[in-house]
Amino acid sequence: MIYKILARWIPRQRLFTVFLPALLWGDIFEAHAVPPATQRVYQPTRAQQRIEEENRKRDARVQAIRRQNAAKQGQPAPAEPAVPPSAKIRYAWINSRRFVLLQDVARFYNMKISYQKDGITLTGTDSIRFFYDKRMSVVNGITLYLTHAPVPRGALVYLDEKDFLLVIDPVVRDAPLWRHPLGTIMIDPGHGGRDNGAPGSKTILEKNVNLMIAAKLATRLRSMGYRVIMTRTDDRFISLQQRAEFCEKMKPDLYISIHCNATEKNRTIRGIETFAMTPQDTASTNETRRGSSSGPGNSFDKNNYRLAYEVQKSLIAVTRTEDRGVKHARFFVLRNATCPAILVETGFISHPAEGALLARSAYQDKIVTGIVSGISSYAKSLRPPETSKKRR
Ligand SMILES: [Zn+2]
Repeated sequence: MIYKILARWIPRQRLFTVFLPALLWGDIFEAHAVPPATQRVYQPTRAQQRIEEENRKRDARVQAIRRQNAAKQGQPAPAEPAVPPSAKIRYAWINSRRFVLLQDVARFYNMKISYQKDGITLTGTDSIRFFYDKRMSVVNGITLYLTHAPVPRGALVYLDEKDFLLVIDPVVRDAPLWRHPLGTIMIDPGHGGRDNGAPGSKTILEKNVNLMIAAKLATRLRSMGYRVIMTRTDDRFISLQQRAEFCEKMKPDLYISIHCNATEKNRTIRGIETFAMTPQDTASTNETRRGSSSGPGNSFDKNNYRLAYEVQKSLIAVTRTEDRGVKHARFFVLRNATCPAILVETGFISHPAEGALLARSAYQDKIVTGIVSGISSYAKSLRPPETSKKRR
């Protein structure tokens, strides 16, 4: 169905290059319904069963396309992915959404699960902390916002399937990531011209700090061999629409938007946050209601989260400022990006100390070092299986 709707306004070629990665999530693990013995689990309705049937058909179609493409290129058809027994993850329908059993997720990752008063911890190569009443997790010390709080049901705890597939899994494993070439990076310094951006002190304007950081970032990435395109190189106004169109036209492999935060209410707030596009049918971090809208940016949900996590992690390691987490929002440039994209809020210009730091060249260099090392970690995660050491 979604194919039919999309095909109407997107040429066939684009449909596969842009939208295929999003459709490939069915092949890593096999989900099984929780046996009806657990009585508190809701049984799927007819409509939900129909959705599952459609998903199965869609997965079969994706497999067929992959086989066809492989045959066209004269390669042997890729084998159907073998599902290891440990990969069986049971799910349940709760309030019309699919949730996976956290116990099974732990087993899938070969991690130890422990229960605390306020939440659950999975430990192994990585450490993941969940909280019962919070839409957030902490992965290897970095705050990663979820789209839904985990749900306890009796002795069992469930995680929203989207949080598992799109947020947690691509961060702790490389296998779910879409492997794409990383040659051209688009850097987008936020605001400009008549749009000053967030209000800082009189002498510091967000648009200027963004541009200074972006210019340093461009120089550093170019010296590493990347081709860099900037949405603006001077103090001029560009609309969000123009930024999105530029991205679509230039087809970069990565899109990094640079911003600074500010708050008028509380000038003690400081720290860094990195945004990925909000997955479809989920609530953004700063909202409580689910939004159903989506865009091309959603084709790269998994890569967006991995990129955001790596950049946030390196930024916190370098600056040692407060980790305000990896969040998700439907920002225009993220929603319309035609490649994996993030928006970095590099700090609060409204905070007296952090604001002053952000205007300083030495601190901007630190921010750049953090972003660059995050991009490098992301690039490593895209390497073919045999050269990467991360669990797959
Ligand atoms: Zn901004």
